[in-house]
Amino acid sequence: MAATHNQRTIGREIRFSGRALQTGKEARVVCGPASPDEGIVFRRADIGSKPAVSPGDMLFSDGYRRRSAIGAPGAEIQTVEHFLAALWGLEIDNITVDVHGVELPALDGSALGFLDILKQAGIVEQPAPRRSVRIKRPLVIEEADSSLAVLPGEKFSISYFIEYDCASIGTEEFGIELDRDSFEREIAPARTFCLKKEAEALLKAGLGGGANCENTLVMDDDGPAGTCLRFPNEPVRHKILDLVGDLYLLGVPIIGKVVAKRSGHRLNLKMVKKIHEQYFSS
Ligand SMILES: [Zn+2]
Repeated sequence: MAATHNQRTIGREIRFSGRALQTGKEARVVCGPASPDEGIVFRRADIGSKPAVSPGDMLFSDGYRRRSAIGAPGAEIQTVEHFLAALWGLEIDNITVDVHGVELPALDGSALGFLDILKQAGIVEQPAPRRSVRIKRPLVIEEADSSLAVLPGEKFSISYFIEYDCASIGTEEFGIELDRDSFEREIAPARTFCLKKEAEALLKAGLGGGANCENTLVMDDDGPAGTCLRFPNEPVRHKILDLVGDLYLLGVPIIGKVVAKRSGHRLNLKMVKKIHEQYFSS
């Protein structure tokens, strides 16, 4: 692992709450500063023993559609990816996140709301070098018409291709070298999305219970219902946001070039597992 600058935490405790995107349930969150090398530690604070899970522990659960979840079954915390992307964007290494609820609040469906909240708490540099994982060999996962590759590179960059059977999305391709500024400006504001023709089936499956026109782009052939796009290619930018958050499940940033084609949380999490096996187990 390579050291870059110093580790960071937040300056003071900060609280927020809101309705969650998929389950539609209300959740309260209390974030607090943490010591150097403590990492990002989530706790289900509404459960008696307050079970903790740190992303680096790889206790993520698969089997959740359209979101990433961590923690043991029954004590899981769902839809952590937008919040984790905000932590990545602010280069926060150490933080405690007490969640009173099963899923993080949706806020505006992007990472912007989380960035604002975390900035209010202040960002504090700590007397310990920051760690990162520099990708040394190509790692590739291919499944049907989806693929995800993580390749050696001097910086962290993501290039993403999506294709949807919906005229207002069609195919979108976007590539970006990511740092604090480019993430905040180009990626963090991109909101989650679904196709209008899927929306009813998702609701029937118990998903999207907290979705509304403000926090979710419900796309039909003419564009999103009830809102305007923040970028002409907001959907592919949101897929990059999800991938930044999913990769930060490692608990440290990676340095390398990521190329994704029609990837999603399931494939992203497989890659996280692969990187973890290669770079963390000794
Ligand atoms: Zn997302």
